[in-house]
Amino acid sequence: MNSVFSCPVCGKPLIKSERNLKCDKNHSFDISSKGYVNLLLSNKMNAKLPGDNKLMVNARRDFLSKDYYRKMADKLCETVCRYFRGGVLLDAGCGEGYYTSLVSEAVERAGINAQISGIDISKTACACAARKCRNAEIAAASIFHIPMSDSGADMMITLFAPFCESEFRRIIAKGGYMIMVIPSENHLWELKEAVYDEPYPNKPHGYEIEGFEFVERELVEDSIYLPCTEDIENLFSMTPYYYKTGVEGHERVKALKELKTRIGFEILTYKKL
Ligand SMILES: [Zn+2]
Repeated sequence: MNSVFSCPVCGKPLIKSERNLKCDKNHSFDISSKGYVNLLLSNKMNAKLPGDNKLMVNARRDFLSKDYYRKMADKLCETVCRYFRGGVLLDAGCGEGYYTSLVSEAVERAGINAQISGIDISKTACACAARKCRNAEIAAASIFHIPMSDSGADMMITLFAPFCESEFRRIIAKGGYMIMVIPSENHLWELKEAVYDEPYPNKPHGYEIEGFEFVERELVEDSIYLPCTEDIENLFSMTPYYYKTGVEGHERVKALKELKTRIGFEILTYKKL
């Protein structure tokens, strides 16, 4: 059976058997017992275990499993089903697979014939995603070197992941779609207020991307109530503020017993020209 992925060494198609993926030049990649395949080449890895570590993957899994972001996820599923006509769907930066599995279920319910796949640089996240999405092909790979042939994806979704314009342009087929989710201006405003002396809103930005037609922008806003420190810390660890704040910011978060905060997302749909 053909894999949706291509060989990260030579770029040729990979054939999937029970235990590995192999190209006709005999480059072979074992499917791990956890259900994902490692397509990261060691010379392209920056660290031994790149991406989110176990602690962060678990924090995100615990937070998302409580469906705090469900409203956006449901909207995303609607949008995917509106544009997707079937074929290969890639979740670029799939993390622990929360959105991948919801999208996969929605697509199946809509009767769309799809091969669902996901990549993430974190092997811990891939193991989690493979467990969650049994029907999907999950690979450890970088968004900056996506192991997929040119025009190999009919639909790509990408949520809060690094943006690599040239790779996205390369792998999405003409007439295919890219659906990107980014935080809106006031996303997590009250969390920022709790952490920073002078919080600032997310910067406005342009929408044009070369090689794509900008189709639509959907704004999803909500307010969530986090009833315990653990959920607040989990949320905090998923944000860029986690890296940007010093010890003091972390202490402030740890001291919060509850938090009500606004959340906001932009779902941006692009069609590949
Ligand atoms: Zn090869």
